[in-house]
Order: sequence, then structure tokens, then C-alpha cells
Amino acid sequence: MDVWLANPRGFCAGVERAVKIVEELIDLVDEPVYIRHEIVHNRAVVDSLKARGAIFVERTDEIPAGSLAVVSAHGADPGVFRDARVAGLRLFDATCPLVSKVHLEVLAHAQARRSVLVIGHRGHVEVVGTTGWYDNPDGGGIQVIEDEAEAREVQVRDPTAVAYVTQTTLEVESANRVVSVLRQRFPALVGPHHGDICYATQNRQDAVRNLCQRCSLVLVLGAPHSSNSLRMVEVAREAGAEARLVESAAELQPAWLEGHADVGLTSSASAPEYLVAGAIDRLRVLVPGVQVRQLGQPEHLVFKLPTPLLDLRAARAAPEARPSLST
Ligand code: SF4
Repeated sequence: MDVWLANPRGFCAGVERAVKIVEELIDLVDEPVYIRHEIVHNRAVVDSLKARGAIFVERTDEIPAGSLAVVSAHGADPGVFRDARVAGLRLFDATCPLVSKVHLEVLAHAQARRSVLVIGHRGHVEVVGTTGWYDNPDGGGIQVIEDEAEAREVQVRDPTAVAYVTQTTLEVESANRVVSVLRQRFPALVGPHHGDICYATQNRQDAVRNLCQRCSLVLVLGAPHSSNSLRMVEVAREAGAEARLVESAAELQPAWLEGHADVGLTSSASAPEYLVAGAIDRLRVLVPGVQVRQLGQPEHLVFKLPTPLLDLRAARAAPEARPSLST
């Protein structure tokens, strides 16, 4: 049996940055680091940060006043930042820059008084955060639509002043189908020039399609509550392969491999590379003599760390010039 490793796979630049922010804070400060929501949707990542002392909460009011806190890569609505200021929290923002870009689009549409349709999963933390950025009570408002059926039904105040944004981790083709329904209904529809679905989501989905050209089974390492993991499984199935989402190597079942000469292995944007290494080790035990091969090219994009963290790092390196931790 051959195991084909997808490229790119695993951590995207936004996740890499968010995890690095938390890891550096834990190393730099001698006090608890609170994180609002799972920093990224992956249990292994969250558990390893918990083991290093990070404290995860869902709401800002669970964080003691004056504490140091981090907003997760999925972002948050402006109310979270306001509440944090009121509570005197020293907040480090790990929102992925590509999610922040969507927030800015929503702000611009609100200023132009357009109705905004957010294509995404209702209740997903990124989508909840994004809708919160619509700040104009005199505008056409903001609402979430999940699929083509909802796009056909949605009502807006003024059909000539409608815009859309999307969750960053959707499946590209399905999102395009929803946009085309909206375009038919609202010919003046305004949208992002290059789309909101991020490069990492798109590249990982393309890499899965590439795997499916030679593999009849695709294993995706990721979390069941991670949108980008679920979309990768969907993409593999749509391309005609069997696909399974697994959180760790321990879940891999020998029966799944029967009858498959070429098996694809990939990991979602929030799954660390050591999970892939663990899966390869287990496959080598289950199928002695298995060959591991690479397919595609890895990514090399890196997002800059937030300035307050860089300042803190510099201050720790030169303690005589140590500034306060206020952000
Ligand atoms: Fe940012 Fe895309 Fe990664 Fe989400 S999947 S954290 S939007 S780069």
C-alpha cells in the first residue's frame, strides 16, 4: 500500500500565528493566560496549551478583571473588545488577519447602508463574530444564509443595496453556488474582489482533490467541530473517494484500509503536524512495508505577530527597558 501525503496540509499561517501568540505569552509572563474560546478548533492543540497553563473560557466575563487574555483566531465581535477594556483586561488579539479583512468589509458595507448576507454556518464562532461588526442601525442589517435554499428565500430592505461576505473556511464550489443564486436575485450584489474563502482553505481543498486522482481512500486529520476539516472530507467524497475524519492515529481502523492500494493522508488547517506523524507510524504498524510519498507543494506564508507581543518580547530581552503589559 502507498500512503500519499497531501501538500499543503496542516497549520495555516493564521493558526500558526495564533498558537505562537499563546505559546510566547505563556513563556514571557508569570501569570495566567486566559483564552477566549478554543484558540483553534483542535483538541490536541488546546490540550497541549492547557498542559502548559493556558486557561480556556467561552465568555469575557469569566476572566478575572485585569488579567491577560487572548482572542482566538476565529475573531470576535467588537463588543468583546469593549467588554475587555471595561474589565481592564490586557487583550492580545490572535484573530487571523484574513478574518479581520472580512470584518473590515462588513464595516464598509454598514457605512454604505447595504444589507449584508454572511454566507456561512449559523452559530459558528467566526460567523457570530463577523455579524457583530455591522454597526449601522440605519443600514440594511446583516443576516446569515447557509445554502442555496436560503439564498432563494432571503429578504432584504433594498434589493439594489445588497452585499455578501463569507466564512473563510467554506467549500469553495458550494459557496460559489450560493453567490450565483444571490446574483440572480440581486444583480447589483457587491462582494469581495477575490472572495473571502482564505488561501489556506482553498489550497487544502485543492490538495485533497489532487489526492483523489490517485487515492480511493482519504484520511483527514482534524476535529469534528472544525469547519475546514469537515469541508475537506466533503471535497474528497465529492471527488469520488471514501473519506474519513479522524482526530488522532488511535482512531484509525485496519478494516478501513482493506481494498485500498493508494491511501491519501492530509490534515486540516488547525491540525498539528505531529498528528500526521502519529498517523504514519500507526499505518506502518497496520500495514507493514507501507510506502509514504509526498504529493504537491507545501506553503510558506507567515503572518506577522501582533506589535504588543513583539514589544513584550523585546522588553523581556532587555529587562532594564521593560514597558508595562498594557496593550
Ligand atoms: Fe486564517 Fe484561513 Fe487559517 Fe482560518 S483557515 S486561520 S482564515 S488562514
